[in-house]
Amino acid sequence: MSKLPNNLPNIKILDEKDKTLRMKSKEVTFPLTKQELKDINDMMDYLEMSQIEETREKYDLRAGWGLSYIQIGVPKKIFVMVHEYEEGKFKRYVVINPKIKSMSEEMVYIAEGEGCLSVNRPVEGIVPRHARMTIEYYDEHGNKQELRVREELAVGFQHELDHLDGILFTDRIDPKNPFKNQNRYRSI
Ligand code: ZN
Repeated sequence: MSKLPNNLPNIKILDEKDKTLRMKSKEVTFPLTKQELKDINDMMDYLEMSQIEETREKYDLRAGWGLSYIQIGVPKKIFVMVHEYEEGKFKRYVVINPKIKSMSEEMVYIAEGEGCLSVNRPVEGIVPRHARMTIEYYDEHGNKQELRVREELAVGFQHELDHLDGILFTDRIDPKNPFKNQNRYRSI
């Protein structure tokens, strides 16, 4: 586990009403700047602190495990994920300039619904996502990575990839029929 700061990182997450979230993010050039590296680290610390009960309550946070750079106002192709793969154990992913290599035909959705740190209201409905995918990307050191993700991690990655295109999960729900075609997909 990485060492967490004593205070909550000072980042401001944009709300869905902010048009900035609709921007398409641009490719990032390497090496990253000091500011970019700091922001990446701050976003991951924030996410981890939002998932740990003690800090979540202390700072009155909503639990989240993914954040895109655009969500703090910077339209660059970077997102981070902090995944609790085992009780109290977190794996961090820094994903820069991602490209999708393949996606499964099988589609799934999160039964309890997706959430987003930029969407501060309850949203009902299913968001169909590919059950598995392989992506290519660069880490914060500029090293090329290839990763196969599945199930909830695959959903999380697709949610963040959407942010880079200015898409929110709410866009993928039909407001007139939020549970449309539900039985065509597997719930997870
Ligand atoms: Zn989101």
